[in-house]
Amino acid sequence: MVSQTTGQSVEKVKILCGGTWEDSPTQRWSDVYNPSTGKVIAQVPLCSVSEVDRVVQAAAKALPAWAETPVVERAQVMFRYRELVQSNFEEIAQIVTREHGKTIGEARASVQRGVEMIEFACGIPSLIMGQCVDNIARRVDCETIRHPVGVCAGITPFNFPAMVPLWMYPVAITCGNTFVLKPSEKVPLSAMRLAELLTEAGLPDGVFSVVHGDKEAVDALLQHELVKAVSFVGSTNIARYIYQEGTKNGKRVQAAGGAKNHLIIMPDADLDQSVAALAASAYGCAGERCMAGSVALAVGDVGDKLVDRLCNHAGKMRVGSTEGNSDVDMGPLVTREHLERVVGYLDIAKEEGATVPLDGRNAKISGDGFLVGPSVIDQVKPGMRVHKEEIFGPVLSVVRAKDIDEALNIGKDCEYGNGASIFTRSGWAAREFKRHFNAGMIGINVGVPAPMAWFPFTGWNNSFFGDLHIQGTESIQFYTKQKMTMTRWFESGADSHHDPVWKTMTGGK
Ligand code: NAD
Repeated sequence: MVSQTTGQSVEKVKILCGGTWEDSPTQRWSDVYNPSTGKVIAQVPLCSVSEVDRVVQAAAKALPAWAETPVVERAQVMFRYRELVQSNFEEIAQIVTREHGKTIGEARASVQRGVEMIEFACGIPSLIMGQCVDNIARRVDCETIRHPVGVCAGITPFNFPAMVPLWMYPVAITCGNTFVLKPSEKVPLSAMRLAELLTEAGLPDGVFSVVHGDKEAVDALLQHELVKAVSFVGSTNIARYIYQEGTKNGKRVQAAGGAKNHLIIMPDADLDQSVAALAASAYGCAGERCMAGSVALAVGDVGDKLVDRLCNHAGKMRVGSTEGNSDVDMGPLVTREHLERVVGYLDIAKEEGATVPLDGRNAKISGDGFLVGPSVIDQVKPGMRVHKEEIFGPVLSVVRAKDIDEALNIGKDCEYGNGASIFTRSGWAAREFKRHFNAGMIGINVGVPAPMAWFPFTGWNNSFFGDLHIQGTESIQFYTKQKMTMTRWFESGADSHHDPVWKTMTGGK
């Protein structure tokens, strides 16, 4: 297919329907870029309602046999999948870098987090166990077991092309559901490679499917009566919409949204260590992380020293194309439009009265992609747009607070509630912060307190809509529904002379 923007022939991304890789008949296509070069590398179909319907029907057809497959066998598919992803690890990381732009080291780390989700899913035979109380009333036993919910859908963002899909489908599938993934149309290629490996692992046809697209495909999933549960990760406005629309249509929904993560630096903090952690948090993955630190709250007299050292540290970062280049600290942003939006905030900051002691537009940059250096905005006041709004780029806003109480208050007013960290040597300050800061994931001397697979990803406020979070045992609860059974057997015939259990245990005494 010839790209509309470059006139070059590029790969056409397929859909996966009922175990078959198919060309989409749609007339609507979207370009996929390599952000390091600015060139189009593929075109992704924007699927229509009828395509989505066909894929969901195929997922529903595959459901009964898969739900009846013993959980141990389902987990065995995940064990094989884990081995396949591991043996193709480097290739997947390269695809992540190629379509997203993050450095190869960052891409590897993100694939590793995804592998851990598969490992978590391998343990589902133990984790899915129900509960039982023997003799809850005389001669009555009570138990709960977990059933799959049905066809599940996953809608994922651009910033972690392999990891975020892996947050969802290994758990959903191993719990006995079938799953339809709609990856970000900006980065569909990593998910496609992961889908190929899942087929290779021996997953039956139709248990996992992939559609592509934009609002039309997403709405088709949200409105489809055969879709019973929807997992979403993306920006807050869309997350809220997905939650409202999905629940209105009777589905269970978990929808993770955007973030504005605060990092508190106390006057007693180890400044060298803190600055390194702040820079890694704010500028890692070019700031395109929902757990990126985006506001530094400098407490007491630490502000000036912190800003000096941050500018010094960030100013030395090597910014450039990540295509075949591992000597780079920070890669490009995902698209030109996103780059323009991010740097627009530097002008907004100045208009609002803040200063920009480090402006990423002046950075030394190698490469032609969607590149900009790290920025520091200083003298930011609570309530300014650069304090309140998610920028999702390599920009750190510094707000001054006179003491920890003021810092906690500033956090209280935040619309979002994903992550927050404190840098201090004081156990008391750390404890106050841990207990009172208004966010769901807390770091103590940790810049990016993103939980690993075994713990839930506990965003609060407008960073999450729903009840059961992604990852950890909450995800198993999300992808299963409980059934309670109460059992009583009447005494009759030979059974009626049975000794109670305690008599057997005590030898009849
Ligand atoms: P996005 O909300 O633009 O897109 C996410 C998904 O929603 C994509 O698959 C997209 O096709 C779809 N979508 C976009 N517009 C839609 C619409 N109007 N109706 C229905 N579906 C629509 O997000 P993005 O730009 O791809 O990703 C960045 C955002 O994701 C940031 O806000 C970031 O904080 C957030 N994020 C959150 C987490 C978390 O765990 N809280 C993790 C990663 C990313």
